[in-house]
Amino acid sequence: TKYILVSGGVVSGIGKGVIASSTGLLLKTAGLKVTAIKIDPYMNIDAGTMRPTEHGEVYVLNDGGEVDLDLGNYERYLDVTLSKDNNITTGKIYREVIEKERRGEYLGKTVQIVPHVTNAIQDWIERVSKIPVDESGEEPDICIVELGGTVGDIESAPFIEAMRQFQFRVGHDNFALIHVSLVPDMHGEQKTKPTQTTVHALRGLGLLPDLIACRLLGRQPLESSTKDKISMFCHVASEQVIGVHDVSSVYHVPLLLQSQRIIEYLRKRLNLASLNITEEWV
Ligand code: ADP
Repeated sequence: TKYILVSGGVVSGIGKGVIASSTGLLLKTAGLKVTAIKIDPYMNIDAGTMRPTEHGEVYVLNDGGEVDLDLGNYERYLDVTLSKDNNITTGKIYREVIEKERRGEYLGKTVQIVPHVTNAIQDWIERVSKIPVDESGEEPDICIVELGGTVGDIESAPFIEAMRQFQFRVGHDNFALIHVSLVPDMHGEQKTKPTQTTVHALRGLGLLPDLIACRLLGRQPLESSTKDKISMFCHVASEQVIGVHDVSSVYHVPLLLQSQRIIEYLRKRLNLASLNITEEWV
């Protein structure tokens, strides 16, 4: 299985979930089997007890799991059936580690965030990513892992550290990172500083973005001069900078990504030719 982590910076609610689902949809269209995991870095075990006016409606899975609405996006975009284990929360990870400690599985050891919690996160992702999610009953080729919240939060720190280690566990060819950032428009000028700051924070934590998805609030697409500037200041090639402006329907986002050749980039980066990819589509 190959992994695509989707993280976010600057502010939450900028369309990370839609970008993650859309990337999954494009890979599925290219003939790959895609699954998804959503990480919600809160202490609640699940979304069932949270105020819908704040977090959006609770999405109920076939197995009764009460989860974040993003899982609904994944099921619809990817035409898959996910389970409650496809939604990881801080609460679920801590519960698992604490129950393991009570069973005496860490006997003699001091149980710590690193390595015990970070290992539990990595083991969980690896286990769930291999569960078949469609009628074929086959193991997925790609697992999209969406990390909720924004990089730099105390809440998401153990997950960021787990993913930093995870890139070495699975190897360079099997792990790519899409970082979603905000590019505000100030009286017609597209500002890159928030993106520079969040990419800097990400690198400081040991994660290097392969694609920087720049969300623009409004109909104005990302200008090529802005793209060049982000490429220069964030140390990525300009083909690695993707613009995502407002579109009339979120179902147009896959086309927007496709027009910027993201699958072509991921094909090279993740060596997708080794999988059964439909080449003419890429
Ligand atoms: P996040 O995962 O970052 O919290 P979501 O993916 O849930 O954000 O998106 C937040 C809201 O923005 C959703 O209501 C979604 O419909 C809307 N949205 C996301 N991307 C776009 C886009 N490119 N154009 C228009 N609306 C969008």
